[in-house]
Amino acid sequence: MSAFKECVKNIHRVASMVDVDKKLVDDLCKGGDVIEMDFPAMTIRGKKDFDAVTVLQINPHEDGQPHPRKGGIRCKKYKSKAKMIDMTKVLALDMAKKNILADLPFAGGKTCININSSEFTTDELWSIFGGLTVEMLEHNILDANIYVPATDYGTNSEMMKWIYRYYWKLNKIMFRPNAAAVVTGKPVDFDGIPGREDATSRGGLIVLRELLKPTSDLSFAIQGFGNVGRPLAELLNDESFEDMSGKVVAVSDINSGLYNPNGIPYRELSAYHKENKTFKGCSALGDEIAPDEITGVKSDVFVTAAQEDLINGKNAKTLKCEWLLELGNSAVTREADEILNDRNILVIPDIIANAGGVVVSYLEWRKNRGDILHEVDLKAMVEFVHDELRKVMKKSVEKVLKTQEKYKNSSLRLAADIRALTELDRMMKRKNA
Ligand code: NAD
Repeated sequence: MSAFKECVKNIHRVASMVDVDKKLVDDLCKGGDVIEMDFPAMTIRGKKDFDAVTVLQINPHEDGQPHPRKGGIRCKKYKSKAKMIDMTKVLALDMAKKNILADLPFAGGKTCININSSEFTTDELWSIFGGLTVEMLEHNILDANIYVPATDYGTNSEMMKWIYRYYWKLNKIMFRPNAAAVVTGKPVDFDGIPGREDATSRGGLIVLRELLKPTSDLSFAIQGFGNVGRPLAELLNDESFEDMSGKVVAVSDINSGLYNPNGIPYRELSAYHKENKTFKGCSALGDEIAPDEITGVKSDVFVTAAQEDLINGKNAKTLKCEWLLELGNSAVTREADEILNDRNILVIPDIIANAGGVVVSYLEWRKNRGDILHEVDLKAMVEFVHDELRKVMKKSVEKVLKTQEKYKNSSLRLAADIRALTELDRMMKRKNA
């Protein structure tokens, strides 16, 4: 069954438990507006065509108000265009749920470029992002009030800067307002906001603390060492981070991994990985393991911060942790989710766990629109961002726990899905009243 068909099945299951409008369910199940794009870009082998897709889910907010769709741009090579579109629909729907659970005035959206970004040079990527920006403008979707992308799998703040720069240059002809607010996750000195880089990881740890209390001296295994996994390891290493601490006993990336039951020192680990782009050869800090061996490592908290479907029916049976923090989108398959529930491993689902990124993106978008007073003092701005993030993440956990209380025996994932669907229903009814 395709990933989106699986999602549709799940929406129907959730809808059968609550009183929501049938039209809402039908609209969500249509998968949103699918904007297929193909565009040329320069590579070292000459001009080449690239495929991308943006999916925009239903908008439950008032028309005529600035309520854009929000969700990252990923660079990921799927086996076919159909698979890319299918997964992008899943992720746009997840963004719809994530935004509403965090009370953000955004609807769901997502973009995927069908490439593995690590196979391209910086110049090639620059050209590809230029092609995408022009294409999104031609489809009239890239706009501070229509669709505002951000970083995701295989992309980074530099690429968000490129989109902004391309837009900025083209805007000399278009004269659209709020040019900086068309994309978030930008570097701080290019109208980004401090605190965005580690927002997803920080938000995830706040959620974990809210659910577990207390959260010191835990051991963590982190699958994935990119935008999300690396800052997570750094925050755990920082003794001044909230009232949390923990040791990282294992890390992995797509081609390597490292294990040390006594804890892996972050600074050395990060420096090694930055230089070598792998954990291979890093035996001074721990034992080398294969990427998939991390699921066999004993830890208190297993964190997914890599790709979708990595926790499956097979490894869920042997995962050696008490809690699973799903920072990676759709990292746990439905089959694995059931196995983990049966094994009493608490799964903290993606739509609650990894919302920190979009929460701080919201602050960046507001800052770029001039809605947040310009803060000259960087330290005060960071504190403001951290305070807001803490408040929003705590509130969304509170809401989900309340729903879980009402629907006894529901997992956190089911409770989050129920809450998201009922809130979408309430907003759509308000909009159509
Ligand atoms: P990234 O591209 O920066 O990093 C991904 C990491 O996962 C890399 O280290 C890669 O080597 C590793 N990886 C890939 N396949 C692996 C495998 N089979 N085993 C172990 N490691 C593997 O991506 P990211 O932005 O850190 O995103 C990670 C996940 O978090 C994705 O699911 C993404 O959608 C989600 N997410 C990201 C953000 C964000 O702000 N970047 C926000 C919310 C959710």
